[in-house]
Amino acid sequence: MQLNKLTISQLRAKLIAGEVSSLELTRACLERIAATDDKLNAFITICETEALAAAEAADKRLAAGDAAPLTGIPLAVKDIFNVLDVRTTCGSKILDNYISPYDATVVAKLRAQGAVIIGKLNMDEFAMGSSNENSAAGSVKNPWDLQRVPGGSSGGSAAAVAAGQVLATLGTDTGGSIRQPASHCGVVGLKPTYGRISRYGVVAYASSLDQVGPLASNVEDCALLLGAVAGYDPADSTSVDTPVPDYLASLKDGVKGKKIGLPKEYFIEGLAAEVKQAVTAAIETYRQLGAEIVEVSLPHTDYAVACYYLIATAEASSNLARYDGVRFGVRKDNGDGLVGMYQHTRAAGFGDEVKRRIMLGTYALSSGYYDAYYLKAQKVRTLIRQDFLTAFEQVDLLLTPVAPTPAFKLGEKTGDPLQMYLSDIFTIPVNLAGTCGMSLPCGSSSDGLPIGVQLIGKPFAEAEMLQAAYAFEQATDFGGKFPPL
Ligand code: GLN
Repeated sequence: MQLNKLTISQLRAKLIAGEVSSLELTRACLERIAATDDKLNAFITICETEALAAAEAADKRLAAGDAAPLTGIPLAVKDIFNVLDVRTTCGSKILDNYISPYDATVVAKLRAQGAVIIGKLNMDEFAMGSSNENSAAGSVKNPWDLQRVPGGSSGGSAAAVAAGQVLATLGTDTGGSIRQPASHCGVVGLKPTYGRISRYGVVAYASSLDQVGPLASNVEDCALLLGAVAGYDPADSTSVDTPVPDYLASLKDGVKGKKIGLPKEYFIEGLAAEVKQAVTAAIETYRQLGAEIVEVSLPHTDYAVACYYLIATAEASSNLARYDGVRFGVRKDNGDGLVGMYQHTRAAGFGDEVKRRIMLGTYALSSGYYDAYYLKAQKVRTLIRQDFLTAFEQVDLLLTPVAPTPAFKLGEKTGDPLQMYLSDIFTIPVNLAGTCGMSLPCGSSSDGLPIGVQLIGKPFAEAEMLQAAYAFEQATDFGGKFPPL
């Protein structure tokens, strides 16, 4: 039996029955990482000693009959989450020497449940990217085809789940960074509603868009992990004080009678034929499951990518000001004064894409341009949110592709940032609207690359979205597959 191919719920039953120990399970994951990560490069830091100690503690807790849902389960988190006494590099050279003095709220929540945190996962630098090629720790490879990208920026998080290195992971999603890599790696990834999960202790990229979320091999595990980390946190004033439902309780209620909307602006030219085919088949499955399918319109879709790249870069330029060699960051001091030190530090510490975005964002915020760019983008954002709220007056959920194509080749888009930005066209509007969305496997290309379908839910209706995702997963056979690594 390969332990790492089971689901969290299956393993939980085995842990409680004493058929397997957390220590065995943790060792199995560490062995799997040792056997595969030279090819994938999904991990930046592996916390072997801490993980084995946490596993032993979890086994004691299990023996005492005091198990929480994640007790003893090996997980890993994107290297954007602060974990006490462990490095948080955020995929950047500038944070090479940063050891966190505290746990992010979500990490503390996982720890309180007795989860085993195996390590920190590779990502695009400061979460800026769609391919994981912008990492100071090197690119991550797609477990289904090592010549291809896993997607980004949570590429390490998606690849690690797909390859069975850990049972589930946490990522962050500012414009698609959970859903797009989940789609490219054939796993389930969920971006909750803005405010559903605390961002305290998560390195900020674009604070009005960033949201934490789970990636797992199946819908139920995703629901379990979401429930474990969701909720109000006084340390994050943008987290919302609304009760966290039991996501597992309604999981099996099906989609009969639900109205699912297809935004006509999302089924466009440029969508790869195989993606269109797989998503069309998914729509048919929902029809057969008893959902009513209707066409809807999100009329401002065309402006979403431009709007996002103004707001996200503006917020990033402000958030990244703290990496100056004084407050944070590896200092490069050539002895030519304070300003010189700032310049050397930032020139040496940031990669090209991060520098590009700081420049774009600083420009958009500068006096004389602020009204024309930043303020205008904020207004467009309101219209985009309004599109979604209007659509949700007619339907319960929306269904769209996740990405226009399956995973692309390493190096294919690095020379053309605009092409890279456009690959997020279907995921970005959900962040701008602040609502929830998820990616679930719905097929594969003729090359054997996974394809995902996106469900978008009403604000704070993650339970309803998960319920629809579960119904699809049960009716089909696309998820839970492991690449021959
Ligand atoms: N690819 C998008 C970007 O580069 C989204 C990234 C993200 O969601 N963190 O901004």
